[in-house]
Amino acid sequence: MKAAVFHRPGHITVDNVDDPKIEKNDDIILKITSTAICGSDLHIYDGFFPQTKPLIMGHEFMGVVEEVGNAVTHLKAGDRIVVPFPIACGNCYFCNHDMQPHCEHSNPDHYGPEGGVLKGKGGALFGYTDLYGGYSGGQAQYVRVPYADYSPRVVPDSLSDEQVLFLTDIFPTGWSAIDWAELKGGETVAIFGSGPVGLMAQKAAWLKGAGRVIAIDPLHYRLIKAKQVNNVETLNPHEVDVVQAIRDMTNGRGADVCVDAVGVEAERTFFDKVKAVVHFEKGTDKVLETCFKAVRRGGTVTVVGVYGSPYDNFPLHTMFDKGLTVRLGQAPVQKYIDHLFSLVQNEKVILNDIVTHVLPLSDAAYAYDIFKNKQEDCVKVILKP
Ligand code: NAD
Ligand code: ZN
Ligand code: ZN
Repeated sequence: MKAAVFHRPGHITVDNVDDPKIEKNDDIILKITSTAICGSDLHIYDGFFPQTKPLIMGHEFMGVVEEVGNAVTHLKAGDRIVVPFPIACGNCYFCNHDMQPHCEHSNPDHYGPEGGVLKGKGGALFGYTDLYGGYSGGQAQYVRVPYADYSPRVVPDSLSDEQVLFLTDIFPTGWSAIDWAELKGGETVAIFGSGPVGLMAQKAAWLKGAGRVIAIDPLHYRLIKAKQVNNVETLNPHEVDVVQAIRDMTNGRGADVCVDAVGVEAERTFFDKVKAVVHFEKGTDKVLETCFKAVRRGGTVTVVGVYGSPYDNFPLHTMFDKGLTVRLGQAPVQKYIDHLFSLVQNEKVILNDIVTHVLPLSDAAYAYDIFKNKQEDCVKVILKP
């Protein structure tokens, strides 16, 4: 089959590889019909997350069941399904407590309680490096889906791929960022990053009763997109002092909630880069620090942007003085997916209005390039195998 394979940073090619096979009797083989590129894929592409062996990329995918293992009871060949990005057994302490990214069984070689840089990682993720289980991803014609009775959800024919594909990751991720902030209604929510994840968090904020939603991004075209699809207020850090602007908009207090939907690969200055090298840090925590400044006292900062290393001079004092609540991590997609599915089905939300590019899988290298370098006003790419 054909698949988008990571070889080394900056180098992803569409290769001929072996077809996946059923390995355990609760596996299925899925024929992919649509798959997307995620900001999280860029951490591998850019070399922020180490991967030495070739890896089939992709954790946002859906398709039609091709073959089922002997023990699979909930799915049959021909079912059309979406598949959450965390690989979860459905049968351990963390799965039973709706914390599926921490599944105790899916990542046997590298799992542990520590959460270190290279050891004691969480549960497995599709197409997300050996440290996260080494599973092949879904930017391919076929993929093996383990624990197939637990996570996949069957999609009715009335919904198109584009309408439901983002239930695999970015809508539940944006939803997590807002759910963790426990809105009561009327809050001002400032969302840093207006990429796919930030755009989904904007949708979730309105759905959960925010009074004001402010999008922050240095890319003008992404702010235009945010205004168009989500009717939010916008701030560009190249044009204004964002922290001051947010305080000015909130009687000097700051936003009730700040969301970091950027993570480690935030735009950085030369000075930031030097600091990172000197301190052995990966990327920067600049956006997170800005969130602590822009949130009001007693407010909440939620973090879905990915971080992978420790940072010196972390502003613990600000968090303490302001009495902040902070929640962060990978999204527990399985926890939210049924509710979010119903929102899509009942037309309470549209997810595919963020798509700017639909390309054949054979164009994956080009697709990574434009998504990473923010060319052609790229916001979200769907690949068709
Ligand atoms: P993306 O790269 O398309 O979007 C990031 C956006 O942040 C870009 O529009 C960029 O211009 C903007 N940005 C850069 N510097 C900024 C700054 N200083 N202030 C404000 N905005 C800034 O990626 P994406 O697909 O939207 O993903 C965003 C993050 O979410 C990534 O770190 C990704 O790994 C993470 N993610 C996490 C989960 C999870 O479960 N927690 C799931 C999916 C994605
Ligand atoms: Zn993703
Ligand atoms: Zn589990």
